[in-house]
Amino acid sequence: MRKEQTNTGSKWVTGLMSLIYPSTCLSCCSPLYNHESYLCKECYSHLALTGYENLADNPVAQLFWGRVPLEFAASLFFYRKGETLQQLIKIMKYRGEPEAGIYLGQIAGRLLSRSSLFARPDYIMPVPLHPAKERKRGYNQCEKIAEGMSPLINAPVDTTLLFRRINNSSQTTKSRYERWENVDTIFGLNQPEEYQGSHILLIDDVITTGSTIEACCHALLAIPDLKISVVSIAYSH
Ligand SMILES: [Zn+2]
Repeated sequence: MRKEQTNTGSKWVTGLMSLIYPSTCLSCCSPLYNHESYLCKECYSHLALTGYENLADNPVAQLFWGRVPLEFAASLFFYRKGETLQQLIKIMKYRGEPEAGIYLGQIAGRLLSRSSLFARPDYIMPVPLHPAKERKRGYNQCEKIAEGMSPLINAPVDTTLLFRRINNSSQTTKSRYERWENVDTIFGLNQPEEYQGSHILLIDDVITTGSTIEACCHALLAIPDLKISVVSIAYSH
């Protein structure tokens, strides 16, 4: 009886491990080596790098010109429909695989650590989800990206300062003007006085118009002498 229980237990663990660490490449289905996760070396090399982390006035940095002052802004990959990166992001956001976020964060951390333009921040801050949305998903995917990145850029993840007051879905029923009007109220701050003069790295999964990041910055810029950098995994334009 005892042995059976152990067998069932180990089968369950193996099953769970194969869910967390798929043993075949997400893109081409070839078997993965032990040190690989999600993508084989070949498919990884086909991801569409932007190189923006090595380009000061890159298109993502320019997206925020005249909107919010940033130290550094970059997306690491182009987001294109039907490509492998989109699959990875979907798995991370909608199929309950936070490990895909850790994986993407590790890739991002490696790229940033090689950039001479990127300065180590004091805190890595994932864009917060509304608490109701985070409960439903079970995790915040941007927090998982930040966790993957953290040891590679040698900075801690902070999820205490910034919080989200307004859920995105409730935004869709409002007029364009109302949405614009409450950009200042979407995010709020907890105990901001502790962060005066620090350098914060905001993390998002995909940047499209930059409006979410802009709303985060509107809240954060209430803190005196704050420096903000922005990194996203993907840029959709
Ligand atoms: Zn592959």
